[in-house]
Amino acid sequence: MIVATIGEIHEEGLKLLTNDRFTIVPIKDTSSKNLKIQLKDVDAIAIRTSELFSDVLSECINLKIVSRHGVGTDNVDIKYLNKRKIPLAITGTANAVSVSEHVLTLMLNLSRKIKDFDNYVRSGGFEDQSSILKTYEIYKKNILILGFGRIGKALQKRCRGFDMNVLVYDPYVSHEIISDLGCTKVDLLEGIKQADFISIHMPLTNDTKNLISKSLLKEMKQNCILINTARGGIVNQEDLVWALNSNIIAGAGLDVYTNEPPDKLDPIFRTSNTILTPHNSALTLECRIKMGVETIQNIIQYIDGNPILSNIVNKEILS
Ligand code: NAD
Repeated sequence: MIVATIGEIHEEGLKLLTNDRFTIVPIKDTSSKNLKIQLKDVDAIAIRTSELFSDVLSECINLKIVSRHGVGTDNVDIKYLNKRKIPLAITGTANAVSVSEHVLTLMLNLSRKIKDFDNYVRSGGFEDQSSILKTYEIYKKNILILGFGRIGKALQKRCRGFDMNVLVYDPYVSHEIISDLGCTKVDLLEGIKQADFISIHMPLTNDTKNLISKSLLKEMKQNCILINTARGGIVNQEDLVWALNSNIIAGAGLDVYTNEPPDKLDPIFRTSNTILTPHNSALTLECRIKMGVETIQNIIQYIDGNPILSNIVNKEILS
């Protein structure tokens, strides 16, 4: 069996392939031209964030499974895989803790202006702390969670630990499930108007593309802090820069961007009330190990006829 790895997979995952059954083909050059050549005979592909569309997939004549290192699926052409009845697996149980901890880190840093105060102390300042920059508690504040799946649920637990009021917008999750966890189901506009923090945890789809744009940003409270660790395309970045620079909202924490990496001249870099991280919210050591192992387990178990069904996004094609 030939398994191609596109992007780094933690060695704990690769170890599972080091026996006579598997040949690993690590791929660094992700141009379509190279992928078409290197993937031609592979049985399985383990892939991180590079794109894998039908022009390349149609050349993979032996392909049996694609396994994503992560949970987003917008970089792989699932419609094409469905046509060929090839499963697309994700690392469903690996990410939620790391991403939700990252969200809390961004929220607390922005509320307490840690980055600014660190600069202030390093440049010799110490007095008049309270008059320089206002800081806020997150205690009893309203957080709106957009998308109540694995990460949204992991985040609500942590926010309730800080005694926050958790509002949830997710049309696909019932009122009962949300209220049983001590949260409140709201509609989008109602939640946006009440929120002191908004954190995005829905997939990027045709429905969610540019969901957060000028019209909704204008409805947010002036003290609102927006966190996006889901996908850049869900927030219209140009509109966000406008809202930040016009003090329509108080700040933003971003792990994901419209273009990745963002252009050096992107105006997001000139905003002062933001914290920017390089799409690494899931890349703690613990999470990289879990994702590496789960990516490869998804492949092996499927090949062995014992698929981890909860990780297969298009499981309907298996029947
Ligand atoms: P999930 O599938 O468990 O949950 C997604 C939730 O979004 C579901 O409950 C679904 O009902 C809801 N949803 C779908 N469409 C919606 C809509 N139009 N409006 C409101 N809710 C909607 O996914 P997850 O594991 O919680 O991950 C969420 C997203 O986070 C992923 O799609 C991925 O893109 C992103 N992610 C980013 C990183 C990172 O490194 N920054 C890491 C992991 C996941």
